[in-house]
Amino acid sequence: MSHDALMPSRRHILTSGPLAASGLLVAAQGISVSSAPAATPACDDGDEATLAETEGPYFKPRSPRRSDLRESGIEGRKVDLSGRVLTRSCRPLAGALVDLWHADSQGEYDNAGFRLRGHVFTDAEGRFLFRTILPGLYPGRTRHYHVKVKAPGKRLLTTQFYFPDEARNAADDLFRRELLLRVSPVAEALQASFDVVLA
Ligand code: FE
Repeated sequence: MSHDALMPSRRHILTSGPLAASGLLVAAQGISVSSAPAATPACDDGDEATLAETEGPYFKPRSPRRSDLRESGIEGRKVDLSGRVLTRSCRPLAGALVDLWHADSQGEYDNAGFRLRGHVFTDAEGRFLFRTILPGLYPGRTRHYHVKVKAPGKRLLTTQFYFPDEARNAADDLFRRELLLRVSPVAEALQASFDVVLA
């Protein structure tokens, strides 16, 4: 399957479909959607590289290549997790691997199979998208996604994404404000985004 089959075009993202809200988020950051060229996407962390975090005990290599993790039987609040992979000068990194794994709505990881595990490659504008669910809480941690990001010529980044307004953020030693998702609710799914900046 080609990248194009997995990733909607920028025009599609900005004008229609479930990612329309992401386009609104881009607009809300002060970037004019109509005039934003590919080389100057939003880069709201300045030139800071995204923080690395521990992999944790539940990573499994060789996840399936897929953007939609909402298999039948997966229950929970729908989340569209999107973002870009960028250089420190805010250039999009195309063809970057983004590997996602997280707990189900009950806080359980699938360690026997690959439920709620998958990877995609960024499109020409560095974009990625997963259709998934809100991860559940489990003892000792606040709510989080795990990701690995590897772009050609760049070092592998392992990190985690967090949700704003979570009571347990303050009590989790791994939590970092810099890794907060930008989240906006829409009727169908929570829209969560994060732009990853690779050193
Ligand atoms: Fe975890």
